[in-house]
Amino acid sequence: MSRTINMHVVHCSVSLYGNKDLIWKLHTGWGDEIFQPWDVKGFGWSDIGYHNVICNEFPTRESFDNKTPMLTHVGLLERGRPYDQKGAHAIEVNANSIGTCLIGDRQFHCNQLLRLYTLHKELEVQFGPLKLVGHYEVTESSKTCPNINMNWLQGWFEGYQIPQPVGRELRHARSTS
Ligand SMILES: [Zn+2]
Repeated sequence: MSRTINMHVVHCSVSLYGNKDLIWKLHTGWGDEIFQPWDVKGFGWSDIGYHNVICNEFPTRESFDNKTPMLTHVGLLERGRPYDQKGAHAIEVNANSIGTCLIGDRQFHCNQLLRLYTLHKELEVQFGPLKLVGHYEVTESSKTCPNINMNWLQGWFEGYQIPQPVGRELRHARSTS
């Protein structure tokens, strides 16, 4: 790893649907799909700007337009730009951060936030302690991305503990009753 990483920046797509492939098309301009709500065809970058994308129930435009949620995609993590490459997501901190985009705007699924939590823990195993920040916390611009109150999210992450498996104890309890 040729760069030092000490920050994990959270973003949202603002769109109500999408996945890594769609955001890759938006960022590179490869593909003829117009991505709502921006009504743009592509930025012409060399690669997707984010390192990770966490899906909601509408990974594709068709699934959203047809109102056919794909529940197995809720909280699905898709890998974007490799971690050893600087991202293109928060110009002030691209050099020393990982960028993760949640698909959606203002309302996110619990599974998306839980996947963000476990991703953050995985990244800390790999890179050491990382400051978790929202895009709006590291930019001089008026951006509100990821449209989540980060004080709330950081507090929730600090207090959250992954539940321990209980199946074995349940079986035991049943066999001794
Ligand atoms: Zn952002």
